[in-house]
Amino acid sequence: MTDAEVMTVTGRLPASRLGVVDAHDHLFLRTPALPGDEFEDLDRSTAELHEGRASGLGTVVDMTPIGLGRRPDMLRAVSDATGVTVIAATGYHRDAHYPEGHWVYAASVETLAERVVRDLEVGMHPADWTDPTAAPDRARAGVIKAGASYHHVSDAERRRLEAAAIGSRRGGVSILVHTEIGTFGHEIVSLLEEGGVPPHRIILAHMDRNPDAELHAEIAARGVSLEYDTMGRTKYRPDSELLDLIERVVGAGHLDRLLLGQDLGRRSSLRAYGGGPGLRYLMEAFVPRLRRRIGDEAVEAILVANPARAFALEGAP
Ligand SMILES: [Zn+2]
Repeated sequence: MTDAEVMTVTGRLPASRLGVVDAHDHLFLRTPALPGDEFEDLDRSTAELHEGRASGLGTVVDMTPIGLGRRPDMLRAVSDATGVTVIAATGYHRDAHYPEGHWVYAASVETLAERVVRDLEVGMHPADWTDPTAAPDRARAGVIKAGASYHHVSDAERRRLEAAAIGSRRGGVSILVHTEIGTFGHEIVSLLEEGGVPPHRIILAHMDRNPDAELHAEIAARGVSLEYDTMGRTKYRPDSELLDLIERVVGAGHLDRLLLGQDLGRRSSLRAYGGGPGLRYLMEAFVPRLRRRIGDEAVEAILVANPARAFALEGAP
């Protein structure tokens, strides 16, 4: 294990102390794309995270980007209350999550990048940059989120990807890109590489929405990490198909490129709001089956060693 560090909402931490990492989740969220499914209650998020911790999670990476209800003060509070390490995100989502007229559409690449860099280097804006003069929270972001659309990126999304590339180079952090149904992966990687981002700092999220093991092996061979998060999403497919996918990608030699998250982005997915499957699902229901498929050592790589590398700060001040 390296002695690299990660940036958590409560400060720097050796990457070797993250434990089991849920590499993509949400502790607070509000988006016009999912009306009525927002969750912003501190007590309920704390209860959910307690269950996650009891199931074995050591770290949750909160991938809520700018404009979707980030609450750095509440992220610090849930982390303190539960003992779970929380890494927070800066950066931007795809267009669908911003209402018409939102400042992210008109902002220059320079402004978009400057806000990302400030979230990383100074402290996260307390209210999603609605009032640029507000004092930053003391929690710093530790990863950059970006987003693309189905088989394409819009001009505005392209500018936000450019800003993410600038932020990654400046802050030494990885970029996790939302792919829509696992599409446009090669193109997203090429865009970020053109922006100077090395492939090992790029994570493509939701790739299992298009469970094409050959495509995944191709993209992983470029040095990019793939994040899967449809376990327990029975409306998409049974877990057995995700297990098949992981087994095939590992069999193709890309164990080191896989990350798992749960991406519970709706209140109806959280047990604390009376829904499910909840934050405990990964460790309680999915990982025991994964161990039987690929063995304990490979599971350890996916849950502990890979995220420790993926979220480590590199060459940052
Ligand atoms: Zn998400």
